[in-house]
Amino acid sequence: MADESPAKLLGKVLRLESSGGCRDRATTGGMAEFMFRWLPPITAGAPQQQAEALSQLEGKFEAYAELSPQQRADLVDQALDLLQELDADQSDAEPTGDETDQVCWDDSVTKLKEVGSKRAELLAALDIYTIGDLLLHCPLGYEDRSQLTVVEALEHRERQTLRVEVTGKGQIIRRGKLAIARVPARDETGQCTLVWFNQPYRANMYSAGTELLVTGSVRVGKKRPTVRVQEAEQLENLPHDWQDRLVPHYAVTTGLSQTMLRRLITQALSRCQLVPAGLVPASIENQRDQPGLSWAVAHAHGPADAEEARQARARLTYERLFALQAALAQRRHNVKQHNERSVVACDGVLAELSATLPFTLTEAQRRVIEQVLADLGKPEPQYRLIHGDVGSGKTVVAAAALLAAARAGRQAAMMAPTEILAEQDWTVVSELLEPFGIAPVLLTGSMAEADKQVIHEDLATGLIDCVAGTHALFQESVGFADLAVAVIDEQQRFGVAQRARLAEKGDGTNILVMSATPIPRTLALTAYGDFDVSVVDELPPGRQPVHTELLTGRQKSQAYETVIAHIEQGRQAFIVCPVIEEAKTKYVTAAEELFRHLSGHVFPNLNLGLVHGQMPSDEREAAMAKFRAGEIDVLVATSVVEVGVDVPNATVMLVQNAERFGLAQLHQLRGRVGRGGESSCCMLVTGSGSPEVIDRLTVLVRTNDGFEIASEDLARRGPGELTGTRQHGIPDLEMSGLMGDTRILVRAREDALKLIGDDPRLEQPAHQPLKHYLARHSQEGQDWTL
Ligand code: ADP
Ligand code: MG
Repeated sequence: MADESPAKLLGKVLRLESSGGCRDRATTGGMAEFMFRWLPPITAGAPQQQAEALSQLEGKFEAYAELSPQQRADLVDQALDLLQELDADQSDAEPTGDETDQVCWDDSVTKLKEVGSKRAELLAALDIYTIGDLLLHCPLGYEDRSQLTVVEALEHRERQTLRVEVTGKGQIIRRGKLAIARVPARDETGQCTLVWFNQPYRANMYSAGTELLVTGSVRVGKKRPTVRVQEAEQLENLPHDWQDRLVPHYAVTTGLSQTMLRRLITQALSRCQLVPAGLVPASIENQRDQPGLSWAVAHAHGPADAEEARQARARLTYERLFALQAALAQRRHNVKQHNERSVVACDGVLAELSATLPFTLTEAQRRVIEQVLADLGKPEPQYRLIHGDVGSGKTVVAAAALLAAARAGRQAAMMAPTEILAEQDWTVVSELLEPFGIAPVLLTGSMAEADKQVIHEDLATGLIDCVAGTHALFQESVGFADLAVAVIDEQQRFGVAQRARLAEKGDGTNILVMSATPIPRTLALTAYGDFDVSVVDELPPGRQPVHTELLTGRQKSQAYETVIAHIEQGRQAFIVCPVIEEAKTKYVTAAEELFRHLSGHVFPNLNLGLVHGQMPSDEREAAMAKFRAGEIDVLVATSVVEVGVDVPNATVMLVQNAERFGLAQLHQLRGRVGRGGESSCCMLVTGSGSPEVIDRLTVLVRTNDGFEIASEDLARRGPGELTGTRQHGIPDLEMSGLMGDTRILVRAREDALKLIGDDPRLEQPAHQPLKHYLARHSQEGQDWTL
């Protein structure tokens, strides 16, 4: 239904333009953009006859900037006439709302009731700044409130919803810094306890008899079940039809509850009548059989049924993905400019390199090296993501690129996220390049200032042709004479800023990023849309899958025996314990204590070493070197050994508190063993009895395929882990469950590529909304890529 106020708004702007002499000054973005944005929603609600005239009008306004003043004036008059006609038709059908009550799509969220600067900040953490951002905040899913559980049927698992009555006063229990509010409740089938962490006020918030709809994770034990409440709403505050409704749940942030976010969205929906046509130009939108944005906004937040919810969410997701892909396509367009400095002659590199290798390249390695070298020969910078499972042999691919650059008299650099890895890459690459007379230099942060200074100078003059190191390599003081190739190893560990800084180091530098976290195709397209992607999808021959077992805490001694058995065969072992984030100091003692316990009581006759992140780097390197040289039997470590460390003689790994690690991370850890030809084993020890934990860890027992594990990891992450993924800069799309729907992504990507191909700088009037949106988002410091 068309609204009175949008037409009025339009009328106001048109009259302003007219009185200003039609100089295209009435709006900041120009009349074409304004009409493109605000006409379609009016058109959508207009009777057929006017609708046609209105959409023709929109087309005519596209060239507004190029028209003569007279032509402009005619057009503005035409538009005003049409609006008047429309107004007359509908004025008696319109409820006259309080105009001041209306908010606009582009208004700040602070226009909403209940949003002050504090809440605005919380919303900003979700990338929500405007009313429009809020309405585009796509639900992660829905709860079907016709499907409630009852106390009797509660199961030991996450997210169940039930309707209960508070039966008495709550109490507050304090455990250290934690305050736990416990409130007794019941329904017809039994009694339960509602539990809130760090919200002590909950204990006295509800009087006996209050009816609540609660959603939370449930623990069922010997006593009455407890519900750790994630959401609670008083029944009397819910709409009458709550039981028939699919209730959306959203990505939220600490301090901003589901209930509050829902309330704000409901408020915004009722106060913002006018949803613009969206960022997707009509020329593209019309080719896609999908609902309009205004329909999607209205129905995503309050769908009638699951099918409607799916369509609405898909449309919102498409909107976000389209913008993301357009940003990536634009970035790609910008870096892919013709640049002769990107050309590195590579003739014969592959043949010469493979002739000197101690092994035969796998088909996958050969294919990826060919792709890399072919693009090095082209006069545009190469941006390539190379990913492949742990141990698939990516280092030699990097070596091929480094060799090509150095052999052509240019410079090459390889960067790793930690000193351990940088040193290891340097050692391996030095060996591989030695036959060619290339001796890479190592540069890390902990080196002596004077030594670093000399290297800086030699890099600046071009004396050094190949360098490996940590991000010390890309500090501002380091300048390269002629950096042709830069490789970033284990890129999943690097931040965006470091990657961006790297690109600035050279003019036309070819950039290869390598990741050992296999990346599902959808995620690769989303996060690395500006990169070409190569996959090393084959392991060197003779690798045996790492036999993986899941053990309980009580079976630890059995695990220790296995460790001893391997060592008696002349092999080496890793024992890994997790980082406990709450207290860094505590975690150091955890690793140190474990080390003391193991060397004193469990393995008194073995040589043990210790590495953790808080150690001085020289000590850490000394321990690693000893382990590599076989002087240490058992290396006790935190997850600093997670990436890349390559010690083929290590054949057994024991992971303590395995439940504290993500699946992909455990797979990385496990990749430290099974690197030689010997059969290897990995024991995951967990004290957790939670079926979810067991189920999750069992994935690793079942498969050694990093891709399968990565997809499982993605599928299993619930809203609770949102914050973790958000840091990577991917919007919450993967959480919405829709990212699995590759079709939406592929569609958005195709459309964005086509658009940027036609209009790379987004200069056409119809592309202005997108241009402004992207500009606004890059201003707000968002980064679109990993
Ligand atoms: P990634 O970095 O992909 O995890 P690496 O490059 O460290 O893997 O390689 C793992 C191990 O496999 C190294 O010891 C390396 O020498 C060895 N390797 C690499 N390619 C081959 C191959 N084609 N055949 C046999 N061994 C290989
Ligand atoms: Mg590696």
